[in-house]
Amino acid sequence: MKGMATETKEVKSKAQRAKELKEKYEALIGEAKEEQLALVQTALTELTGMGFEYKLVTMDEYLRQNAPQMPKSAPRATKAAPKAKEPAPGPSANYEADKHCPVCKEQGHDGRKHRQHKGPFTNEELAGLGLLPPELPIPAKA
Ligand SMILES: [Zn+2]
Repeated sequence: MKGMATETKEVKSKAQRAKELKEKYEALIGEAKEEQLALVQTALTELTGMGFEYKLVTMDEYLRQNAPQMPKSAPRATKAAPKAKEPAPGPSANYEADKHCPVCKEQGHDGRKHRQHKGPFTNEELAGLGLLPPELPIPAKA
């Protein structure tokens, strides 16, 4: 423990010294800043006395004050409802009488329409795709 102590003590003292110097530096730079600001303030007061008004601000403050105004709630184009899937122009617009669907066992489309859709379509789905047989009534919207 004693052998280590010397080294630890030395490291610690350097660290301590650095810390102390940092504190001194910060105190000094704080004072220097106040000194310079006082000079500027005096000059500003002189200018004001001559009718020239200036304002001293930090760059942070300046940038904050001059930032482009971004209203927090940007006015949205009146409630654009989330776009639903483009409906087919008509419930039977894509109906093709010469095609037969092996899945739905119906005319109007073929099995390729079922690549994304397993199982037979409901009439409502058919209407959405424009595949509703024209003789069927248009299903009421859900
Ligand atoms: Zn089908």
